Amino acid sequence: MATNRTLTILKPDCVKKGLIGEVTKRIQEAGFKIVAMKLTRLTEATAGGFYDVHRERPFFGELVEFMSSGPCVPMILEKDNAVADFRAFIGATNPAEADEGTIRADFADSVGENIIHGSDSDENAAMEAAYFFSQSEVVANLD
Ligand code: ADP
Repeated sequence: MATNRTLTILKPDCVKKGLIGEVTKRIQEAGFKIVAMKLTRLTEATAGGFYDVHRERPFFGELVEFMSSGPCVPMILEKDNAVADFRAFIGATNPAEADEGTIRADFADSVGENIIHGSDSDENAAMEAAYFFSQSEVVANLD
């Protein structure tokens, strides 16, 4: 059975609100297997590199400031159709537009501070996973 991976980050607002446990529980109950996970604090440079595609956007400075404002929890998740299923699970970027019952609808305050990241393609998922984790930090590679 083909297994796909996606990269998520429980963003600094998720950690500040004490929601690591609740969101992680929902991720697992939705069928995603955690194969790598860490608590870390991004520097502005690391946050900027991660969101490099948005460097010219007006919200880039705000985004980098927010993502480096406190600890966050990157994870690599495995599931069939992981990228698309996880995007559906977290909801639209703007929580006001997110479907009922999604993570962003339930917990996010604004389009900027929206609790959680999910990769938008298999290619980006692989790049983003490598941005945060070495091979030896991914348990599925050690089985
Ligand atoms: P997603 O995270 O849903 O893939 P994008 O890739 O479009 O969304 O944007 C990346 C992140 O940048 C968003 O999750 C959000 O934190 C921030 N962002 C996007 N659009 C805006 C905006 N208009 N104002 C402030 N922050 C934004």
